[in-house]
Amino acid sequence: MSSLFEIPIRALKGVGDKKAQLFHKLGIDSVGTLLYYFPRSYEDWSNPLSIADVEGGQVCCVKGKLSATMRESRLPGNRYMVRAEVSDGFDAMRIVFFNNKYITQMLKYDTEYLFYGKATKDFSGVQMVSPEFVLAKESADTFHPVYGLTAGLTNKAVQNAVKQAISMLPLKVADPLPDFILEKYDLCGLRDAIINIHIPDSPVSLQRAQRRLMVEELLVLSLGIRSLKQQHKEARGTNITADFTEEFLSLLPFTPTSAQRRAMEDCTRDMLSGKVPMNRLVQGDVGSGKTAIAACACYNMVKNGKQAAFMAPTEILAEQHFATLQKLFADTDIRVGLLTGSATTSNKKKIREALAQGEIDIIVGTHALITDKTVFKSLGLAVTDEQHRFGVAQRSKLLTKGDDPHLLVMSATPIPRTLALIIYGDLDISVVDEIPPGRQPIDTLLIGTDKRHRAFNFIRKELDNGYRAYIVCPLVEEDDSDLTAAEEYGAELMLEEFSDYAVGIIHGKMKYQDKEKTMRRFASGELQLLVATTVIEVGVDVPSATIMMIENAERFGLSQLHQLRGRVGRGDSKSYCILVSDNTSENTQKRLSVMTSTSDGFKIADEDLRLRGPGDFFGERQHGLPKLSIADFSDMSTLYTSQDIATDILEDSPDLSGDKYKGLRASIRRLFKDSQGTMN
Ligand code: ADP
Ligand code: MG
Repeated sequence: MSSLFEIPIRALKGVGDKKAQLFHKLGIDSVGTLLYYFPRSYEDWSNPLSIADVEGGQVCCVKGKLSATMRESRLPGNRYMVRAEVSDGFDAMRIVFFNNKYITQMLKYDTEYLFYGKATKDFSGVQMVSPEFVLAKESADTFHPVYGLTAGLTNKAVQNAVKQAISMLPLKVADPLPDFILEKYDLCGLRDAIINIHIPDSPVSLQRAQRRLMVEELLVLSLGIRSLKQQHKEARGTNITADFTEEFLSLLPFTPTSAQRRAMEDCTRDMLSGKVPMNRLVQGDVGSGKTAIAACACYNMVKNGKQAAFMAPTEILAEQHFATLQKLFADTDIRVGLLTGSATTSNKKKIREALAQGEIDIIVGTHALITDKTVFKSLGLAVTDEQHRFGVAQRSKLLTKGDDPHLLVMSATPIPRTLALIIYGDLDISVVDEIPPGRQPIDTLLIGTDKRHRAFNFIRKELDNGYRAYIVCPLVEEDDSDLTAAEEYGAELMLEEFSDYAVGIIHGKMKYQDKEKTMRRFASGELQLLVATTVIEVGVDVPSATIMMIENAERFGLSQLHQLRGRVGRGDSKSYCILVSDNTSENTQKRLSVMTSTSDGFKIADEDLRLRGPGDFFGERQHGLPKLSIADFSDMSTLYTSQDIATDILEDSPDLSGDKYKGLRASIRRLFKDSQGTMN
């Protein structure tokens, strides 16, 4: 199996340079990675409908033959169209293909096909645009895999490539899971699993394949994370010798909550201990006051004669932290610096020199901090804020800047304890489960689109009163056609509902600098309304933003909604969050009503886990983990199984040495190799 990771995807028939580029976009470069590129879902082609039964808007399968001559026509803008008609023996439907010159050669007359696609229906009958199709007599496999795609690459192209790759599998595939584990946990072998996940021969074998591969992936993840912890344990750490926490507290303009106090003490204790460097995660809801905890750790380090670095995922956030720390330490001799990518070259050079000379005690910055050019005189502590935006690899890069510095990572994404132990297996955890007193709760409402106009009125009223607002629309990343969703929707709002207001648009595919610029204009008040995809998750503080409307709220995980909602209610004014959803399924309504009934992020995370399973909590976007391909579908039982297996394996071989674990070691290396996180 592992040799297939050495064979470039180019080696497959029908994959030339251009296609290889497209596969590369999906993270697929070798035949091996292609085999591990699992379908997102499956279409059931086993029950074709008769055309008379097809409903408008239905995604379905129809069996039939061409019943009229195909007609080709040119459209303006160099576009090209083929129209045909399909009959099931009783009724006919139209099918249309755009810009596919080969259709007329691919589709044969007098031949029965299965057509699969979304049907529309109007007075002139049923129509399918660009349906998928296969020869009816060939469709022994009734589950058709659906892959995540990128523009220019069709599902069929991926399917064909996968079929070839499968034919290259050796008869005896070396399995990273040893036999005794497969037997004990009743898991199928790797070869079976890979074949059945791509071309399932029955629902049961699909399930077995999924279970085996999920368990394997979660196992590889947690063994990898545990080995990171092991590495960290071998370091020495630059210890502090005295505790300056009380002195720090006298600088704070407020009394810390007891949760903040506890977290501060956890950090000091770690840094005083002298055995291993601190490796701690501070997990606390938006607004729980994590900055003060980080500042306390920095203060302790600096007072003990070493430097501290404070890394934030965006420039604005870095600037905000810089301003906070400067103010906090204004009456002390602590020198705070700022290093971001957009500073002038000469300015950056000056700051870096000062850092190397030890003339800056605390440096706040973005990923500019981890480039090779940045050198510290003596870095004793590295802090990363909103850690889910950084990959595990970036975290470790910061650590190479000093002599085994202590590490403090902060996250505003609460996750349930059971999962934290796995996802953050390499970190100790402090939970900040208390919000400073005097905060006004955010009023959260759930409405259907029929009330949207009333919501717009309300938003306009807030804007007229000098406040600012966010409107968030979800983005389906796999589908390029939706990439412009925020842009289009924003343009519509600009022209119609909010034509008298200053509206800005921000989305994930914008260049980093453009995003920053737009965010800045919003923070400064130049823009009143920001139409956004989820990129606003990261903690920028705009105190006068008092209202957020979230479209298609059902598409977000609860924890994500909670994160988003945390963007408002950061000032003294009453704030609101309006969730818009027309989805009336009981489960969705139940899920969304959790948002209206509590503002406790940990409670919300627990509910999320209960209602949607653990999948949402994995993946790089939430926690800086390597990108997983299948754990998304997991449930708690696969998670527990993977943990049991990890224990069995580590008992058998604590350092995974020996031939038996060669495959597992290779899998761990592969998973963590590309873990660069998701900055920006
Ligand atoms: P987080 O990073 O956890 O989202 P911040 O550190 O940005 O939260 O704190 C949010 C706001 O609350 C800041 O304005 C901060 O000054 C204030 N704050 C933090 N702790 C307290 C406290 N114990 N009492 C009052 N205000 C606080
Ligand atoms: Mg923060």
